[in-house]
Amino acid sequence: MELEDINTVAVLGAGNMGHGIAEVAALAGYDVTMRDIKEEFVQDGYDQIEWSLGKLAENDQITEEKADDTLARITPLVDMEEAVGDADFVIEAVPEKMEIKKDVYGELEEHAPDRAIFATNTSSLSITELSEVTERPERFCGMHFFNPPIRMPLVEVITGEHTDEGVLELTEALADDFGKSPVRVHRDAPGFIVNRVLVPLMNEASWLVSNDEATIAEVDSTTKFDMGLPMGAFELGDQVGNDVSLHVLEYLHEVLGEAYEPAPLLVKKVENEELGKKTGKGFYDYEDGDGAEVPSDEGSEFVKERLLAATANEAAKLIGGDVAPPESIDEAVMLGGGWPEGPVALADDHGLESLLEVLEEAHEETGHARYEPDEYLRERAEAGGFYDADSDNGDGERFDYDVISVEIDDSVGHLEIDRAHRMNTITTDMIEEVDDAIDKLVEDDEVRALLVTGAGDRAFSAGFDASTASVANGLQAAEMSRLGQRVFGRLEEIPMPVLAAIDGYCLGGGMEFATCADMRISSRRSKFGQPEHNLGLLPGWGGTQRLSRIVGEGRAKEIIFTARNDYDPETMADYGFVNEVVDNDEFEDRAWELARDLAAGPPIAQEFTKKTMLAGRTDLEAGLELEASSFGHLFTTDDLWEGLAAFQQDREPEFEGK
Ligand code: NAD
Repeated sequence: MELEDINTVAVLGAGNMGHGIAEVAALAGYDVTMRDIKEEFVQDGYDQIEWSLGKLAENDQITEEKADDTLARITPLVDMEEAVGDADFVIEAVPEKMEIKKDVYGELEEHAPDRAIFATNTSSLSITELSEVTERPERFCGMHFFNPPIRMPLVEVITGEHTDEGVLELTEALADDFGKSPVRVHRDAPGFIVNRVLVPLMNEASWLVSNDEATIAEVDSTTKFDMGLPMGAFELGDQVGNDVSLHVLEYLHEVLGEAYEPAPLLVKKVENEELGKKTGKGFYDYEDGDGAEVPSDEGSEFVKERLLAATANEAAKLIGGDVAPPESIDEAVMLGGGWPEGPVALADDHGLESLLEVLEEAHEETGHARYEPDEYLRERAEAGGFYDADSDNGDGERFDYDVISVEIDDSVGHLEIDRAHRMNTITTDMIEEVDDAIDKLVEDDEVRALLVTGAGDRAFSAGFDASTASVANGLQAAEMSRLGQRVFGRLEEIPMPVLAAIDGYCLGGGMEFATCADMRISSRRSKFGQPEHNLGLLPGWGGTQRLSRIVGEGRAKEIIFTARNDYDPETMADYGFVNEVVDNDEFEDRAWELARDLAAGPPIAQEFTKKTMLAGRTDLEAGLELEASSFGHLFTTDDLWEGLAAFQQDREPEFEGK
């Protein structure tokens, strides 16, 4: 079966997740049947979809017409046969109880066509065990959406023991077509990736407080302000719901053993029905108190090391156990947990050897299984990190950089952001390297156009890597802003045309970098956005100024204020930001073709064009005057005569910049 063969998607369960998944599928153009056990339950889900589509239309994220069409594609049903009789793909989102799910699969198998693929949205149950209830375990996998599906970009695609590779690929293609970012989970391990990292972290936070080693304020201040996570650990716990965290933990405890014993504090919260925001009280008091007020200055190195050590140990179990490689873990937690940098990269940055020591000491002191270092952690600590530390750029001596790579290919200078394992996030060192590389490329007479890319196919650049900055105060932050503004702005000032070829995430500072290029092309799978407002920041590398010159102030404000990180390339092309959208498998060739075309253009005319346009931004008269004098100057160049001759002889001109 190919993606084109999937027309009808059946969603089982119209609850929290089911209705959201149905909405996502219908928005992507699929016919959707949504089934629940009672008329009122399906209707309730349907009403919520209608409300949500209305909101999207109200905020101009879709047109009224698209909202109506989307709703019209969804059929709410109670009858199983009607719901799945013609389904190509079934996504099950019924309650997280093995017995209920098994019953549902029994009934589903009776009515679904043989061709249909079954995917479960379970957060924790065994995919293999569920698949074995059906007669098609090889056409069965996990498809784990995050709450709410309409907003969360991540989908974990999980293999069961019997799943065919083709089924996983198709499920990933479907998630991609839904506008989501699939991350493969290679083994049916409890908690998959994101819950397996976040829930034990939450548990360690609770143990620290249970054992009087830290206060809630200290833990949250550390996680939010020292580790740079979007929320404090307890703040997040309250948001997710303490019953939900405890439920996942109890499952991990049952399957994986004592290392996952729930901390007394968490158990007590659930016993007291202090479940978090939804009950008005959890670790913080939302009704009678001020809610989650996290102090910015109570962080401690001790807490940070404990939490990072726990996270590194968990990552080691996942990587060493072949559940997922470091890149996937980092991508999943960044997308699913909103972390600015992945947990594996964070652990590497801190240093695995010292984290290993933290675990060993804590293990000696307490004897608790959660501190027992995983064998694979020892191995990687010895090797110097989870990621291979020896990423050799292989460039000649002229271009010896650490986090970018630079090559000259005929007349195209190719500058690549080379931190694929960290989603090509930008560091201050990188900006300095870019500054130096621009000098060298401009000096080189051979180079006539610049192609800027990000290594790998996940990200052009996912933005600024906050964890690497030594920003202790506002003055230093302003300095860093100026540095990026100046260096990125050089792309506008240098004589040759610059093409940014965007494949994957192009967010925040990464998008500001791309904004300075003269042209941008994008692969179809890319995603764009300026999410700085989510962190209470603003785009500080020219984004408040340069973006509006390309897309207009109204759109620039929309992009910055909505702080979305999932603008698709077609929309960005509509806005004028992207010049061309190219299919994923043709992207690289097309980028080089376009760069070579630009490099074949008339260098002096190109240089003057960039200069006059830049001059005209602040002063129209000056721009026009520069245009006139440049025009005059061009009449004295050899290139003009070459251009005219080539035109008359019907051949390609060979410009020499003379
Ligand atoms: P929910 O309780 O909100 O919804 C479940 C729905 O399934 C209910 O409307 C229920 O009436 C319906 N249902 C029960 N039996 C059914 C049957 N035989 N056929 C069809 N529908 C039936 O639960 P939820 O939060 O949407 O979770 C659903 C699944 O998604 C669970 O497996 C859960 O682990 C998983 N999940 C939940 C979240 C989350 O944050 N809530 C996130 C990711 C995954």
